[in-house]
Amino acid sequence: MIKRKLADIAAMCGGQVANADDNNLIIQGVITDSRRIEQGCLFVPLSGERFDGHAFVADSLASGASATLWERIKGNPPGPAILVDDALEALQRLAKSYLAATEAKVVGITGSNGKTTTKDLLYSLLATTYRVHKTGGNYNNHIGLPLTILAMPEDTEIAVLEMGMSGRYEIEFLSKLAEPEAVIVTNIGESHLQQLGSRLEIARAKLEILSGLKAGGLFVYNGDEPLIQEVLADSDTPKPEQLHTLTFGLNGNNDIYPSGIMFLEHGTMFTLKEGETPFELPLLGEHNVVNGLAAIAVARHYGIADTAIREGLKHAELTGMRIEIVQGDNGVTILNDAYNASPTSAKAAIDVLKTMKGYRNKIAVLGDMLELGEDEVRFHQEVGEFLTPENTDLLFTYGRLGREIAAGAKKHLLPDNIYAYDDKSELIHKLISLLHPKDIILVKASRGMKLEEVVEAVKHSE
Ligand code: ATP
Ligand code: MG
Repeated sequence: MIKRKLADIAAMCGGQVANADDNNLIIQGVITDSRRIEQGCLFVPLSGERFDGHAFVADSLASGASATLWERIKGNPPGPAILVDDALEALQRLAKSYLAATEAKVVGITGSNGKTTTKDLLYSLLATTYRVHKTGGNYNNHIGLPLTILAMPEDTEIAVLEMGMSGRYEIEFLSKLAEPEAVIVTNIGESHLQQLGSRLEIARAKLEILSGLKAGGLFVYNGDEPLIQEVLADSDTPKPEQLHTLTFGLNGNNDIYPSGIMFLEHGTMFTLKEGETPFELPLLGEHNVVNGLAAIAVARHYGIADTAIREGLKHAELTGMRIEIVQGDNGVTILNDAYNASPTSAKAAIDVLKTMKGYRNKIAVLGDMLELGEDEVRFHQEVGEFLTPENTDLLFTYGRLGREIAAGAKKHLLPDNIYAYDDKSELIHKLISLLHPKDIILVKASRGMKLEEVVEAVKHSE
């Protein structure tokens, strides 16, 4: 993590030291949550709609923070401080300046789905050979990205940074802050369609990542998505000089594609050339093979040999609730994908059910997918129509839009096999009453629907 003299930190973020007896005081680490203060850190008081971080400055100093950022408009700080006009902006400047002072090369990852998974996979591959730092969890926005950078050890060789957004020009900002030398666009889905209006506009927003890419940089993207090619070909899209591109995807015309995929109970195997030793992924689903391809393309770019890549993939540590396999107390298998959902990711998860063999009933528990804009009803019906006896024996839906999934599901499933609920407890009750230890259950909905409560209930049912 960042370790610098207070005066140096002030210079890096464009602020002015105040109330400090000792300008040579060493600051170690930057923290925005006053409940997580660590000795010697710099506290950064951010302000949201409901709170103002300045209210926690005194407590933070008392808990061990060595100094605080302090916005001039708030008057006099209660202890050692760096005076700034805007704490968030100062945090971002500090991160940019720290990153630029290290030797770390940056790989930036954006896309509608699969960012965190690809980040975790790529980290694992690069870590076989380099000192690597990665975004913790999902710290991928205008606050999370600077905090990720400031938490990075000074001797990091490669930083793998996830970049998320909810509207235009957010990725541009993050990319210009981090100035990557390689970037990945995982895919274009429908998340944030409500804010952006069309998938083309989503593609434009994702390709903003090219605006901070260094000259001669590498652009690795999903070649199965025509919209990415379209935006890339657009003369308005900012591109660095001597851009190198590499595509990945399922289609054989990509630079990297799988020549064969095998679906196993706890993961996936695939080959890139016929007859070679397969690559093993501890992840279910074809979509995760695609995430793996993106990670392999970048790892090879950094000179990682395929033998090391095989090891790295096998032992990757992944962030939870992304098609996580959970075993219930009574033996039932749960695919916990309750982290989030969009039509693309819901269909990817349903495809996983299709590959699961040897179970009695395959049960899909699906809830509302939020923020899809004016076509939300159609999107939900289409996910319902995607359900067939091949992937789903019983369907449970939760929520108002969940009912549209249930409506669409009537196309291929018998009405007797479809249960629609607006009350989560009722859903859980009915689901548990029908469960058998040999069943497999997929649980998926938008974050706001909190379907992990279903996972917990099923996990501990008798
Ligand atoms: P967020 O925008 O919330 O940060 P993310 O892009 O980081 O999401 P992950 O956390 O890796 O994505 O995965 C979230 C969900 O998206 C997974 O649970 C899975 O269902 C789905 N998913 C992951 N990768 C893909 C992919 N390549 N294509 C389609 N769906 C995917
Ligand atoms: Mg993520």
